[in-house]
Amino acid sequence: MKNSQNIADNIYQAIQEIKRRTPAFDNIFDAFGELIAAKACFKAQLTLPDTDDTFKPDPLRFSQGVSLLTGKTLNLDKSDYLKAADSLFPAMEKGFPKIALNIHAVKQAIENQQLSPEIFMQVLLNGEDEKFQKISNELTIEPQLLRFIIGQITKPFLEKQAEALQPLIQELQWHKGYCPICGSYPELSILQGQTGERWLRCAVCANEWRFIRIKCPVCENDKADDMELIFSEERPHERAELCHSCKKYLIGFDLRKYSQAIIFDVERLGALYLDVAAQERGYFPIAENAWNMMD
Ligand SMILES: [Zn+2]
Ligand SMILES: [Zn+2]
Repeated sequence: MKNSQNIADNIYQAIQEIKRRTPAFDNIFDAFGELIAAKACFKAQLTLPDTDDTFKPDPLRFSQGVSLLTGKTLNLDKSDYLKAADSLFPAMEKGFPKIALNIHAVKQAIENQQLSPEIFMQVLLNGEDEKFQKISNELTIEPQLLRFIIGQITKPFLEKQAEALQPLIQELQWHKGYCPICGSYPELSILQGQTGERWLRCAVCANEWRFIRIKCPVCENDKADDMELIFSEERPHERAELCHSCKKYLIGFDLRKYSQAIIFDVERLGALYLDVAAQERGYFPIAENAWNMMD
């Protein structure tokens, strides 16, 4: 309990800091702040799942770019999702009062098994299919909104699973721009270490993997001329990395310039002004983000 309080306090403190420097985004933090805290607290009390042989990487397939969770399902059931719903839905309802009825409908659908654990994973890792469209129709919830709600309660489990799986791939090489664990695209590019190694952080499971410094994670273009950084004079260590070739962008943090550890989920929201700037220039985010889905 005390641990939870600490986690939440740190998150609210980081949010206050960003609100002070960019008051324009107050309403976004009012919407997402409690949800971020609730998710972090829920994740903190999950136990690290066992990694049995089902998840052992096949070195050949892995080296060919097949992510660890491809074709696998996590060992979760209805009661896990109900627990997540109980922890996260109150914060979600408070942040997004307009979707309160939809949130209740989702909870009911979990209870009566209309929404099964398989669907949660499927939607998050492989996108929508016919079955999902059908459920979205039955619940009369827009697919994008349903995906947002499902994504929020599935993410803590996936992040925890990724933590457990990470040691299995630590020694293996991975050269792709998508996540070696879950196969999703990154939401952040992070420079760290003395030489400024570049790491990508997965938008879905939060796993981080090392990647070539000048290379687009999506189209793999590595011509320096096709890359451009945009940033504000005051905060040059936060930037949007644009790829002229595929017109995608990724937000990047140079961790070497921060005096203390940062909370990525909070700091990522604090960099929204860069999303605005990149999108105004006609670039698209590499990964779908909750706040892009909810605007
Ligand atoms: Zn991932
Ligand atoms: Zn590209």
